[in-house]
Amino acid sequence: MTASTFPEPEVPTFSIVVPAYNEDSVLEAFHARLAATLDRLGETAEVIYINDGSHDRTRPVLDRLQTRDPRVAVIDLSRNFGKEVALTAGLHHARGQAVIVIDADLQDPPELIPELVAPWRERGVDVVYAQRIARAGESWLKRATAHLFYRLMQHVGRVHLPPDTGDYRLLSRRAVEALNQYPEQHRFMKGLFTWIGFEQVAVRYERDPRFAGRTKWSYAKLVNLAIEGITSFTSAPLRFASILGLAIAGLAFVDALWIIYKTLRYGDPVAGYPSLMTTILFLGGVQLTAIGILGEYLGRVFDETKHRPLYHVKDYRPARLGRVREPM
Ligand code: UDP
Ligand code: MG
Repeated sequence: MTASTFPEPEVPTFSIVVPAYNEDSVLEAFHARLAATLDRLGETAEVIYINDGSHDRTRPVLDRLQTRDPRVAVIDLSRNFGKEVALTAGLHHARGQAVIVIDADLQDPPELIPELVAPWRERGVDVVYAQRIARAGESWLKRATAHLFYRLMQHVGRVHLPPDTGDYRLLSRRAVEALNQYPEQHRFMKGLFTWIGFEQVAVRYERDPRFAGRTKWSYAKLVNLAIEGITSFTSAPLRFASILGLAIAGLAFVDALWIIYKTLRYGDPVAGYPSLMTTILFLGGVQLTAIGILGEYLGRVFDETKHRPLYHVKDYRPARLGRVREPM
């Protein structure tokens, strides 16, 4: 121990929650930038890294960071549980007065943290989310489908999702307490963040061009995410299936009346094989779709009724708050 300072209090001002899955190549650079930002803020902080069952050297890298920086905490999950659950594990363990959620892959610039902190500090805003200034690089199809999805969620799901927003945000203590009360297995975090309410504001920022590589979000993954979002927040598709069924039945009834009239009036020459086929195929499709929708919800009911724990912690090494910080 070199210089002695006052011991830091047990409850840090900030908890930074960072889920990490196979990020050994970027963690050193990420932590350097994060640590520099926290140093400038000059307040107590813990940085909780959640190792989400990585197959690479993420864990040893995190251990090395922890020996160098006493603010680092490491949660090692027993396997890969996915980002939403890793994030949830971090929120459960965070002790800070405000919690900042950030990705490890440097797509969320750590230097933005002071701007996220300001509204919370000055006005007691509970949720401050980082909103990217829309990029020109995206195709119109991507933008159109995204727009449609947000509109749908707003009108049908009654949850306002801010567009161009990831998980990067600051949450006040009471917002975190609120989120920690949600036990569901299917965790559409973007939706839950806004679902809790409280005062929420955006901080806009220009996103750095992608450092390297391509987005991991294929269209298939986006469709899955959309289904996850819709089924987590609204049962409207079920209602839609019922209404569609009723409407088709109504039309069929009118058609039946028309056929009876026609037969009485003009006799009954056997015709109409093509229209019969299309009708049968169309109705078959409608029925399978409706069963599929039912299945989506039933599957979720099944998952929720098991009441399984969301994750298992293999190892938790808390931040050594209260220790003197050694020079890095
Ligand atoms: N992540 C995780 N578990 C997973 C997948 C991702 O903890 O199963 C972490 C990942 O290490 C990163 C963050 O979640 O810190 C965002 O992941 P990614 O960059 O793949 O998602 P995107 O930026 O495309 O949303
Ligand atoms: Mg990313």
